[in-house]
Amino acid sequence: MQGLNVLVIGGGIGGLTAAIALRQRGFAVTVAEKDPAWSVYGVGIIQQGNVLRAVAALGILDRYVGAGVGFDAVEVYAPDGTKLARVPSPRLLENYPANLGISRPALHKVLGDAALEAGAQVRLGLTVEAIRDEGARVEVRFSDGGSAEYDLVIGADGIHSQTRATIFPEAAEPQPTGQSVWRYNLPRPTGLDALHVYNGPTGVGLVPMGPEVMYLYATTPEPGNPRYPVEGLAAAMRGKLARCAPAIRELGEQIVDDESVVYRPLEVMMLHGPWHKGRVVLLGDAVHATTPHLGQGAGLAIEDSLVLAEELARHDTPETACIAYRDRRFERCRYIVEKSLAICHGQLGKGPPVDNASMTAEMFRFVAQPI
Ligand SMILES: Cc1cc2nc3c(=O)[nH]c(=O)nc-3n(C[C@H](O)[C@H](O)[C@H](O)COP(=O)(O)OP(=O)(O)OC[C@H]3O[C@@H](n4cnc5c(N)ncnc54)[C@H](O)[C@@H]3O)c2cc1C
Repeated sequence: MQGLNVLVIGGGIGGLTAAIALRQRGFAVTVAEKDPAWSVYGVGIIQQGNVLRAVAALGILDRYVGAGVGFDAVEVYAPDGTKLARVPSPRLLENYPANLGISRPALHKVLGDAALEAGAQVRLGLTVEAIRDEGARVEVRFSDGGSAEYDLVIGADGIHSQTRATIFPEAAEPQPTGQSVWRYNLPRPTGLDALHVYNGPTGVGLVPMGPEVMYLYATTPEPGNPRYPVEGLAAAMRGKLARCAPAIRELGEQIVDDESVVYRPLEVMMLHGPWHKGRVVLLGDAVHATTPHLGQGAGLAIEDSLVLAEELARHDTPETACIAYRDRRFERCRYIVEKSLAICHGQLGKGPPVDNASMTAEMFRFVAQPI
């Protein structure tokens, strides 16, 4: 198809990469983002070689790599701090690192700037009140009272997607896992040249994110999936690290600012049926929200965007394009969601323990396959 007029609901990682990929193919793109400040929280994210490869296809690899820090291995540690393995990560692009650690605001800026430069219209503080699929086009009513018609609507509105609820009201809600993640930015210790992963009931990771900054994440069992007040979060996070390896406890002493702790109960969701209905299609967390144990959620959203744009350009109808898109994506996304959840369940004692080092090596081989 040529000349499609597309509405993307959600200006996050998946929505923005979809906007870039669609503009590359000459489609008209409007992004409706409900957050008037278009903000993201301040910790970081891990991106692996398959994601660098996808970002290269979006034509923005150098600015993306320049906004983060590359690394080529994952080091795995026992709960007492003994180093168990250094798993090299395969480089999928010549002259580029195997992995990238990048702050979420930096990633957001790279993607947002690129989407705007590519000619996408980004409308902030706007959401969708009603979607009516008329067969040959979709009528959309916005929260500001306006309305418009599109050839295709993409729901990239995250794990609690309103678009998903609109087209698949019967779909199961995201399920809480009973595990939460605590994150905090810290100065990067000299010599930290890999992702460091500490096994244990409290799993910990140290992720390089810039020349002088990293973030620390800790996964903890949180039966009942509690939320905590902001006041006291830093002390609570330090407390969660109290039985970790000495190096982690020492880092924990620098966790002092309640407002800088990013705490989040983990949820999981995957649509096993179709990913589209008529001319409305879903991508990213809206259709497969994984726990972060393999660090691939955002990567999947970025790959989804590319594949959807490719299939739309290749097919004669949105229907066949959306079917082809899901066919190319389903097994890969299911693998990441299920393997990540298996690690989560192993850590919680809800399933057999999973060996992090071998699972990480297997995952790298899997995602190295072409999309
Ligand atoms: C603790 C944790 C750690 C993670 N770490 C990693 C990692 O290291 N590496 C990795 O690859 N992935 C990681 N992920 C996963 C990653 O964050 C997500 O997979 C990714 O953000 C999904 O992108 P998305 O665009 O689909 O959704 P989001 O990033 O959630 O973006 C959705 C956007 O839609 C907007 N929106 C929502 N509702 C509406 C609406 N009704 N109308 C308009 N706009 C709307 C939101 O404001 C937001 O901007 C992690 C996730 C968690 C929870």
